Amino acid sequence: ANPAQPPVIRQLDETVINRIAAGEVVERPASAVKELVENSLDAGARRIEIAIADGGKSLIRITDDGCGIPAADLPLALSRHATSKIDGSDLLDIRSFGFRGEALASLGAVGRLSVTSRATGSAEAARITVTGGTMAPVSPAALTRGTVVELRDLFHATPARLKFMRSDRAETQAIGDVVKRLAMAEPSVAFTLRDVTGDGEGRVSFRADAETGDLFDALRGRIGRILGAEFVENAISLDIEREGLRLTGLAALPTYSRGSSVAQYLFVNGRPVRDKLLVGALRAAYMDFLSRDRHPAAVLFIDCDPQLVDVNVHPAKAEVRFRDPGLARGMIVSGLRHALAGSGHRASSTVAG
Ligand code: ADP
Ligand code: MG
Repeated sequence: ANPAQPPVIRQLDETVINRIAAGEVVERPASAVKELVENSLDAGARRIEIAIADGGKSLIRITDDGCGIPAADLPLALSRHATSKIDGSDLLDIRSFGFRGEALASLGAVGRLSVTSRATGSAEAARITVTGGTMAPVSPAALTRGTVVELRDLFHATPARLKFMRSDRAETQAIGDVVKRLAMAEPSVAFTLRDVTGDGEGRVSFRADAETGDLFDALRGRIGRILGAEFVENAISLDIEREGLRLTGLAALPTYSRGSSVAQYLFVNGRPVRDKLLVGALRAAYMDFLSRDRHPAAVLFIDCDPQLVDVNVHPAKAEVRFRDPGLARGMIVSGLRHALAGSGHRASSTVAG
């Protein structure tokens, strides 16, 4: 820039703003699937069907039986920073997956998005489409209940991002992981993931029927469905409560550890998270029970008053921050250690020799 001539400062238009934001919210097809399935869960869906084609790059379609969106609200639902989930007064009391009001606006900016919905109690369904950030008017549609969100040609408007996509196979795998992760925490919801690449009905790559029974049976059933019955049979059920934190889930017996790929699934208030603090706590808990090169498999749910965690740390909401990290860590380490010791598996240091 010429020091004598400052450049002009412009207010970016909404489409560009959405495209920039989309870079953070929607990294790849799997992140789009995550946002859309979370929306279905927030809408109280009991059945969620996901169809993808070409690794999600050409098509992602989510069909749910949730509460739907009133026709008049469709343009707002697709607008940036518009949400039905918080009223803006309390960012420390978030009970839904969503709250940023960014996902649909972002997806509409980087793909061809259509949302068809029939709100509970409404006699008619309606559809809105948005392509490259430009919204078409709401039109009547046919749908008996719930919502169908269809996202085509993701990143067609941002070729730079498209180049960073991995193979269809790798993206399909990442989508499968996201769906399984979300399904793990929601055993009462039925999930189907279908790959419809090419023609026809497609191939079901993941299905989990709604689990019945008490919460623990349902969780064990669902986790067994996803991680295999062997894991469930070789795991201890946890239910520990301390100072407002509750830790439930399944932790593998030390004899069932893995050498390499780690099956560790962590959830805070039902939200899948990748959290160094929690991973570290898990490792510390197993320290005396496992040799250093082994990894414990575990599915841990930490539930607490939403006020005790900040979920507004990252646009993709994959991280959380505990108000009192020491408390969370301490509770996991001591709770798990206690459970492992009680399982009859002595610390490896005393077993050696
Ligand atoms: P957020 O989830 O953060 O509110 P989104 O952009 O993901 O933001 O969605 C915007 C709004 O659209 C939501 O607050 C919700 O009211 C509505 N919505 C989105 N998806 C669905 C769905 N599957 N069923 C019902 N309502 C939905
Ligand atoms: Mg959302």
